[in-house]
Amino acid sequence: MGLVIYNSLTNKMEEFVPQNGNKVNMYVCGPTVYNYIHIGNARPVIFYDMMRRYLKFLGYDVTYASNITDVDDKIIKKALEQNKTEKEIATFYENAYFDSVKEVGSTKPDLIPHATDYIGEMITFIQELIEKGYAYNVDGDVFFRVSKISDYGCLSNQVTEDLESGARISVDSKKESPLDFALWKKTDEGIKWDSPFGEGRPGWHTECVVMNHKLFGTGLDIHGGGMDLKFPHHENEIAQFEALYKTHLAKYWIHVGRLDLAGEKMSKSLGNVIYVKDLENKRDGMILRSLILFSPYRSIISYSEDLKNQYVKEYDKWQRAYKQALYTLQYENKLTDKVNDSDIEKFKEYMNQDFNVQNVLTLVNDIVKEINTNLRSKNYLETAIKLNTFKTIFDVLGINLFVEKMNDEALDAYTKWMEARNNKDFETADIYRNKLIEWKIL
Ligand SMILES: [Zn+2]
Repeated sequence: MGLVIYNSLTNKMEEFVPQNGNKVNMYVCGPTVYNYIHIGNARPVIFYDMMRRYLKFLGYDVTYASNITDVDDKIIKKALEQNKTEKEIATFYENAYFDSVKEVGSTKPDLIPHATDYIGEMITFIQELIEKGYAYNVDGDVFFRVSKISDYGCLSNQVTEDLESGARISVDSKKESPLDFALWKKTDEGIKWDSPFGEGRPGWHTECVVMNHKLFGTGLDIHGGGMDLKFPHHENEIAQFEALYKTHLAKYWIHVGRLDLAGEKMSKSLGNVIYVKDLENKRDGMILRSLILFSPYRSIISYSEDLKNQYVKEYDKWQRAYKQALYTLQYENKLTDKVNDSDIEKFKEYMNQDFNVQNVLTLVNDIVKEINTNLRSKNYLETAIKLNTFKTIFDVLGINLFVEKMNDEALDAYTKWMEARNNKDFETADIYRNKLIEWKIL
């Protein structure tokens, strides 16, 4: 059995079979660039990056797209406040976003579509929806006619009647039904484009669906995003796609849970936001990455100092074991490219169970223990195999321990330190020992 994932669309565990052989197309909703990202926003950034790495590790040819929403009311508002253009605001926060992406050890997506590069396509798309009766124009605002989609609510598992009664009484009396959503917004303020419906800008749900279709057509395998995007954002993407292309937008929907601060939602209005940019160093980024990756991905993470400290301890333990083993093996000239096949099989078995990261964490810690035991008993061959297995797993997870092999100068000092110790020349040993401490080798 290969990879099994929980499909949010069917609410079932399903074997992962991409639509087109070995190729995997994945799209993850990216940020609206009007502010820095906080550690909760970093959760999908970390999870889907790991997923891409794992799919590649399994041998898939992955194309990972994640968009930048660079036109939105919040960007327009910030631009007005700061007396800047929307473009300036969006570019600034997009750069800050990718700094944070790097900070938590993720790599950039293969494709980064920007909403403002697809305005023409969005206008054509909306026009087609109007022509086919799926959308209507009221004084320059265009809305999607939800009643035309019979299985609306399929992703969030709700029926239209319940959604309607749950929807807030709309102050926007222009809409035929409270569930109808905006495809095109008439705007008086800020950036706007000319269109057959009048001046305005596209709605967020339309942006994502148009970019998706432009990049992948009907061949999207995985659509991802935070759990909070399921409704209405993803539901509305599905509805528009179905209206024009008569098929489902994506085969698998994967949603990651929220990260809350010890029980409460992190939000600017509550003043309890921890921004990724404020993490002190690269190590903090990796501690956050470990904490997020080793938590079951669909559950809410309740972030606290205690939880963080638990991963500080884990990380330091991994780093210490890795460092000691690597330097000893390098000195003994016993490093290897071999891995322990049975450990790697176990790793795959756990990951294939809808990313059972808790079992992976146990496996990793067992391997680390074995590295320490074998190193102590000078069983270098076994230490080297386990060390390389450990590294292989951490490379797939994208957890960097920031330990490199010693350079020639350091190896020379290390050798002299060992020789002096063996000759019981403690004075000389101390000189080299201090050097090695200074270079953070010891
Ligand atoms: Zn989206």
